[in-house]
Amino acid sequence: MRLLLTTSQGIEDLAKGEVENLLSGLGVPFRVEERPLGVEGRVLAEVGEAYYTDEKGKKRELSVPTYLNESSRLLHRIIMEIASERFEGIGDDDPEKALKRIEDFVSELPVERFVKVSESFAVRSFRKGEHSVTSVDIARTVGKAVFDRLSRFGTPRVNLDHPAVIFRAELIGDVFFLGIDTTGDSSLHKRPWRVYDHPAHLKASIANALIELAKPDGGSFIDPFCGSGTIPIELALRGYDGRIIGLEKYRKHLRGAEMNALAAGVSERIDFVLGDATRLSEYVESVDFAVSNLPYGLKIGRKGMIPGLYMDFFSELSKVLEKRGVFITTEKRAIERAIAENGFEIRHHRLIGHGGLTVHTYVVE
Ligand code: SAM
Repeated sequence: MRLLLTTSQGIEDLAKGEVENLLSGLGVPFRVEERPLGVEGRVLAEVGEAYYTDEKGKKRELSVPTYLNESSRLLHRIIMEIASERFEGIGDDDPEKALKRIEDFVSELPVERFVKVSESFAVRSFRKGEHSVTSVDIARTVGKAVFDRLSRFGTPRVNLDHPAVIFRAELIGDVFFLGIDTTGDSSLHKRPWRVYDHPAHLKASIANALIELAKPDGGSFIDPFCGSGTIPIELALRGYDGRIIGLEKYRKHLRGAEMNALAAGVSERIDFVLGDATRLSEYVESVDFAVSNLPYGLKIGRKGMIPGLYMDFFSELSKVLEKRGVFITTEKRAIERAIAENGFEIRHHRLIGHGGLTVHTYVVE
C-alpha cells in the first residue's frame, strides 16, 4: 500500500522520522520518502501488510492508515494513494485542456478497487500553484470521471455532505495526486482538545516539530508566550516527565490555555503562569528548554513594538536558559539581532509554512 501523507511545508523530514518510528513498531517492511515528485508538505510511505494478534490469539490485519491517524502528531492527512502523475505544462493549459487531461487520466484508474459502488462518495480537492482551473473545477471533473467509471459496475452514489468515502484530488504545481482520504474532512492538526481558539494559535503539528527540534530530555520546559497552550499541551500529551510551564501575559488567553489543557486531560501536568516574558527571571530561576511561537505583531499588538519586545525577552532568557531554545517568528531581523546581542548562537534555522506565511524557525543555545 502506498500512503500519501500531508503535513506542513518545511517539516517533512521530521514527519518522515515520525512515520519511520511508528512503522518500525509494526514489524512490517516499509520505505518512506520526503517530498515525493518534489512536492513540499508531502511524504510518501510504501508499507507492507501489517497484522496483530487479537485477545483470542487470532491473527488479524491491522489498518496502517487507522494506526497513523491515531498515533501521528506531525501529520495532517493519511491518504491511500491511487495515482500520482506529473502533468508537464498543465500550468500553461487553458481550462478546457487542463480538465480534459485530468479527466482522461482519472477515467483510466481502477477506482473501483478502492470503493464499493454501493458506498456514497465525494471528491475533495486541493490546488496550489499557477493554473487556469480552480479547485472546484478539479473536484467536479474528478467526480465525473469517478462516477462514470463506477457506473460500469453499478449505480454510484454521490453525497457531498456526508460521504462514506472521500476521494482527494490534489494539483500542486504540475503534480496531480489522487487517493482516498482516510482522515476525513477535519485535518489531524485540528486537535479535539482545542475548546479555546486563540486568534494566532500554532498548528499542533508545528508545535510537535518545534518540540522535536528542541530535543527535551526530561529537564524543565517553558513556553514563555504560551497563548492557548498548544506547545505545553502537546508536550504533556507526549508523556513528558519533566516540569512544563506556560507563561502568558493576558489573562483571557491563559484561562483559554487552562481550558484546553483540561480538555486534553493534562491540566495537572502544566504550570500555567500569568506574567510578562520580558521579566522571565522573576518567574523562573532556571529552565532547561524554552520553545515558543513569538508574537509577530501581525494579528496581536503593534509591529513597532516587536524589536524591543524580542530584545528584552532574549536578555531575560540569557539569565535563565540552561540548554536549548526553539523559536518561530516571521520577524527575522528582530529575532536575529536579539539572539546575537544576548550571547546566543543559532544552531539551526529552517523555514516552515504556517497559515499562508513562511515563518523562520531557530534553534539557539
Ligand atoms: N503558540 C500559541 C498558541 O498556539 O496559542 C500562540 C502564541 S501567540 C503567537 C503569542 C502570545 O504571546 C499571545 O498570546 C500574546 O498574548 C502573548 N504575549 C505577548 N506579549 C507577551 C509578553 N510580554 N509576555 C508573555 N506573553 C506575551
